Amino acid sequence: MKLPGGTDSDFHMHSTASDGGYSPSVLVEKCHAVGLKQIALTDHDTVDGTFEAMKVGERLGVRVLPGIEFSCVFEKKSVHMLGLGVDVHHEAFQQMLSKQRDMRQRRMNIMLQKLSDVGVHVTADEVLAEADGGSIGRPHVAKVLIKHDVVKTVAEAFDRYLAEGKPCYVEKEREMTVKEAIDWTHEVGGLSIVAHPGYYGLDHELIHWITKWGMDGIEVYHRDHEKQDQERYEQICEEAEQVTGSAIFRSGGSDFHHETYGRKQEPLGVTRLQDYYADQIITELSIRQRD
Ligand SMILES: [Zn+2]
Ligand SMILES: [Zn+2]
Repeated sequence: MKLPGGTDSDFHMHSTASDGGYSPSVLVEKCHAVGLKQIALTDHDTVDGTFEAMKVGERLGVRVLPGIEFSCVFEKKSVHMLGLGVDVHHEAFQQMLSKQRDMRQRRMNIMLQKLSDVGVHVTADEVLAEADGGSIGRPHVAKVLIKHDVVKTVAEAFDRYLAEGKPCYVEKEREMTVKEAIDWTHEVGGLSIVAHPGYYGLDHELIHWITKWGMDGIEVYHRDHEKQDQERYEQICEEAEQVTGSAIFRSGGSDFHHETYGRKQEPLGVTRLQDYYADQIITELSIRQRD
């Protein structure tokens, strides 16, 4: 579909507040340099970078939506949920995020300690580098063990160290559910959007998340979505609109971390969101936050 307006928006990117390669200031400067006019900073499980990003955005004339990308689970699968336009000053929200961060840190420390007890020395940074942001898991540790030549395969890492009953097993702490991410996003005045659904194989669930739990939209456009993925998600949005009778938001962005990160190692400014869709999101946020 040919839409009116330009493509100067990008509603998914990361800074050093999570696992991105650039500080919030430098990131916004880079956005400005490639002509982006509306962006959302969506770091994993934190809004700490948004204050700086918004300040720089104001100076450069780039509209910065404060956002977040929650690490969630749905039926044992890892799912990322974006919150766009969230209230970063909300106290209970900040407390919840910091509790979650402490929990992850604790789990990581226990795991690294147990590895060190059996003579395997791995740093937190190495494990984080294998994880797609916030949530670290045993497969990430396994990959580091392969790099260190401690084991040959992920299966061997589990067999010898990481599986239940093995010396470095650490019980997983409770993770946020998709429904909780939607509820929290609404609690802080934001729009809840499933991030890069092309990663999960859960397309049949998306409409339920919208109708049952009030999810507001889908990240239709993403660096790793092919044309047919976009078409499929556009269609799911249309179907959901017919069922609910209300607007379902199409979001999108680069998921930029750094030029050298990610499957496609894409520079900033390549994958963009049509301003038409970005404006719909901004308008909806201003209506909701006025009430
Ligand atoms: Zn993600
Ligand atoms: Zn992301």
